[in-house]
Amino acid sequence: MFDFRSDTVTLPTDLMRKAMFEAVVGDDVYGDDPSVNKLEHMAAEIMGKEAALFVPSGTMGNQIAIMTHTQMGDEIIADKESHVFKYEAGAYARLSGVSICTQVLEKGYFTENDIIKNIRADDAHFPRTSLLCLENPKTNGMTLSITQMKESYETAKAHGLRVHLDGARIFNAACYLEVDVKEIAQYCDSVMFCVSKGLCAPVGSLLCGSAEFIKRARRMRKILGGGMRQAGVIAVCGIVALETMIENIKTDHENARYLAQELSKIDHFDVNLDQIQTNMVFVDIHHPKFNEESFISHMLKNEIKVYGAINRITNTYRFVTHYGIEHSTIDLFIDRLKEYLNR
Ligand SMILES: *Cc1c(COP(=O)(O)O)cnc(C)c1O
Repeated sequence: MFDFRSDTVTLPTDLMRKAMFEAVVGDDVYGDDPSVNKLEHMAAEIMGKEAALFVPSGTMGNQIAIMTHTQMGDEIIADKESHVFKYEAGAYARLSGVSICTQVLEKGYFTENDIIKNIRADDAHFPRTSLLCLENPKTNGMTLSITQMKESYETAKAHGLRVHLDGARIFNAACYLEVDVKEIAQYCDSVMFCVSKGLCAPVGSLLCGSAEFIKRARRMRKILGGGMRQAGVIAVCGIVALETMIENIKTDHENARYLAQELSKIDHFDVNLDQIQTNMVFVDIHHPKFNEESFISHMLKNEIKVYGAINRITNTYRFVTHYGIEHSTIDLFIDRLKEYLNR
């Protein structure tokens, strides 16, 4: 099976399976798991932060960040399309008791204006604005440049806000921008990234920030039931991910670009090639012979898994490349698609 639905479908590599078998472990809730400690140490170092916390999922990492940065009744600011707002089941409201002010990013990032106009005045009528949530890359696969990150961060800090970065795929952003991840992560107080996506680890994300922040975040993880015992068994996969899988992201991006280019050559397939910056391809399909259900089942019969439309008004489809999708897989995908359109 070739799975174009997401990079979360990636399987642990042989090196990861070997590392799991050999993992040295201990009780991480007591801080006794050397493998978890090593991964947290590596993560903090790579992001240029003082400390890190290993968490079971990216969602938990983002939510712990919100819980740690805010107080009940606060308001946070986030992109209307962000994962934190759209895809975390409203957890910010349940777990942190905060409201959210969402912003449509007309310029593709939080400009000084976008932030200032959303900060509440110091008045008994209003909640207190305490946190800005950024995302890089964004859910549309596009990155924020270093200058854009800097403007958002500096504006937020000048107005007393904390800044959390959802960097689930921060290595994809760094690869596209051709910078060290530290250069991106310097413009936030906390950053979450996933080892379970394009980096192929089976489970896990890391939340990074100051030592004082991570100390408080550790208690929040316990509250959520995210304290794991011999978690080194999975943490070693994160270590292998950081040691061996980052360079593969470049290939994923090349494959995404190749797929986008091939799709754009098909009549009634609209691809905005400028949008293809990372490993995600977005295409609007208005082909007369195209139908969501029959397309999915045709591809499935040919060992290719795809999602249905992510937007049924614009008829937008998302295809994701990752370790397990090669250049030749893209050719196969295009062949099967053409076969379907010419049926
Ligand atoms: C996947 C993802 C998350 C959450 O990760 P899970 O491990 O699935 O909870 C958060 N933010 C973004 C942008 C993501 O793509």
